[in-house]
Amino acid sequence: MRYYSTRNKDNVVSSMEAIIKGIAEDGGLFVPEGFPALPRLEEMLNLSYKELAKLILGMYFDDYPEEDLEGAVNGAYGDKFGNREPVRLVEKGGVHFLELFLGPTLAFKDMALTILPYLMRSALLNKGIREEVVVLAATSGDTGKAALEGFSDVPGVNVLVFYPKGGVSQLQRLQMITQKGQNTHVVAIEGNFDDAQKGVKDIFGDQAYNKKLKEEGYVLSSANSINIGRLIPQIVYYVYGYLDLLRNNSIEAGQEINIVVPTGNFGNILAAYYAKMMGLPVDRLICSSNDNKVLTDFFETGTYDRRRDLLLTSSPSMDILVSSNLERFLFHISGNDDTSLREMMEDLSKEGYFTWSDFSREEIYGEFADENDVSLSIRDLYREEDYVMDPHTAVGYGVYRKYLKETGDQKPAIIASTASPFKFPEKVISSMGKDVPQDLFKGIEMVAESMKMEIPTQVRELESLPVLHDNICKKEEMRDIVLKLLQEVK
Ligand SMILES: *Cc1c(COP(=O)(O)O)cnc(C)c1O
Repeated sequence: MRYYSTRNKDNVVSSMEAIIKGIAEDGGLFVPEGFPALPRLEEMLNLSYKELAKLILGMYFDDYPEEDLEGAVNGAYGDKFGNREPVRLVEKGGVHFLELFLGPTLAFKDMALTILPYLMRSALLNKGIREEVVVLAATSGDTGKAALEGFSDVPGVNVLVFYPKGGVSQLQRLQMITQKGQNTHVVAIEGNFDDAQKGVKDIFGDQAYNKKLKEEGYVLSSANSINIGRLIPQIVYYVYGYLDLLRNNSIEAGQEINIVVPTGNFGNILAAYYAKMMGLPVDRLICSSNDNKVLTDFFETGTYDRRRDLLLTSSPSMDILVSSNLERFLFHISGNDDTSLREMMEDLSKEGYFTWSDFSREEIYGEFADENDVSLSIRDLYREEDYVMDPHTAVGYGVYRKYLKETGDQKPAIIASTASPFKFPEKVISSMGKDVPQDLFKGIEMVAESMKMEIPTQVRELESLPVLHDNICKKEEMRDIVLKLLQEVK
């Protein structure tokens, strides 16, 4: 399997190279040259998550030695997920929640960021790369912690996370600034997520800066979903979710389902699209946005327009105006038209918008849920089904309710349930009509009561862990602080 850049198909690399680089030099994203076909459903029906992961990763990462992939899958999806199946399907309110937040940092980002460090390390060893890798990540809240946790104390790798000051939840921030590990760094930037993401992308594209880093013994890589090493492992759970529906007789083999995804950077939903392209019986992909509804507008009008203010919502991990992975989707549906993509992305960067009307609404449906929709969704499902959702998942559920009303489409549906309610106690509690306590941990206790669950250890311990990171910088200072922090480790 070869990978090429969305902005230049002549820029061809192997999967190991794509994973190490993270993003192409031309600013494009690496995509697979094709979609391998899944085996027949019956053949996959009894596979464990790990077995399914090995199968699917093996199709895309075929330059990795088999034992490396095996080691990666076992390392990622074993005790980090309590040695249980790493995802769970729960039927509530007539829809199937695919709970993807059972990992160490309580958000779906763990599904890929527990395995990416193994893939990266193996690629470095196999390619004989002598430089240390600097993994840069911009985070809207969950990627940061999952990347820090995944790469903490991995030899030969440094991880550096930029989060928007004031743009993540209290708990997300605490999770990051208490991170252990000699090789982990956390920086708050004075700006929003898009500033952080643009800053990181600019660093990747700065040849002189990369040369300078190389002289100091470093190469850059990415832990954001622009890295194909994050995207491919996310295909696995959609296939697994479908098989689970089959196993519990909710559907018949081959029956089409819809998939609802609360969307920010368009990575998670793109993985569902990849699963569909591999032959999974999926009809509609339902792209759910919060008040930052750039994607909803795009799917409605064909114009992607980032010229608006970024709003801070109760689903901070979706507070994004530039959804990077949309570039991959447009590349695929345009029949790999790298020339158009290059022009569109230049328009987006220079003018702040681009127009692209050539896609089918049959395939992808975009809608958004505002703060009130989110509150009502959380409240109703709690009252009616005694099930607690986090605000991101509630965006998906809120949009799904609108979709049902509009279309009456009765196909079985999976909603990607992306975070644990423990990460966002304020919105969960207020939606249930209760007063939000001043103290974060009191709020967390209230969430535990409503879920009839113990507070997870990784949340409880945050109350007493020392703060280890307090860096703040301006947008323009990102390059400097990377160098400074690397120097401190040396
Ligand atoms: C990252 C994140 C999302 C958005 O996923 P994308 O792949 O960026 O579209 C949604 N919900 C939660 C909880 C997240 O952490």
